[in-house]
Amino acid sequence: MLEKHSCAKHAHIKRMLENRQYFVPAYYQQVFCPFTRSTSRSESFNSNFKDYVLRKDTIETFIRQYELFQESVIHIENKDRFLSNEKVPIMWGYQQFERHAAEIYTRAIYTKFLTEMMNATAFGVREIEKDKKYELKRNFEYENLEFDREIFTVHVDRAAEQFDCECGKFDRDGILCCHILRLFTQFDYLKIPERYIVARWTREFREIQLRKHKIDLLGAQSED
Ligand SMILES: [Zn+2]
Repeated sequence: MLEKHSCAKHAHIKRMLENRQYFVPAYYQQVFCPFTRSTSRSESFNSNFKDYVLRKDTIETFIRQYELFQESVIHIENKDRFLSNEKVPIMWGYQQFERHAAEIYTRAIYTKFLTEMMNATAFGVREIEKDKKYELKRNFEYENLEFDREIFTVHVDRAAEQFDCECGKFDRDGILCCHILRLFTQFDYLKIPERYIVARWTREFREIQLRKHKIDLLGAQSED
């Protein structure tokens, strides 16, 4: 790549390329790029993505194809989505907001949500400032840790039902992190607040969008 872009002699650029795994994830931390950030997956992500996008594509096509690609990634991970949509989702625990999640989310997202629910039980809560600031400390070393660190601070506005966790998972993946879910348990939440329901991850919206994408794609092909 350095030779292709005539940068082989630039020591700084060479070093940046070598260290890209350290700063690229940090740079994109707040960017919505669901479930595709692990290094092991990035290779397949790149090769798969090439199937969806051509060099001559316009930005508009690029974005549309990217959305299709996301759909497909989640499909591959959860091949039984259409089948399982008809079944009653399996509850992991007995909390009201979990039932709410089972009702609204697609099976794929609900499965990821359940993992967060389970991980949430590994955390203890320390109140720093009532209804404003909480510290979540991991007390159990579970498998497949998404974050190495043990302590996370969550800023809260109880009246507005706003929760900002420094892990930034919601901004990236569009689902709540285990730290915020742990606080939902703490506060006896019955439902997931509206502001934390990303429409594209809901059953209802997803089916409508998939239909729309197919029509858009067929329309675009027929024009060519
Ligand atoms: Zn978090």
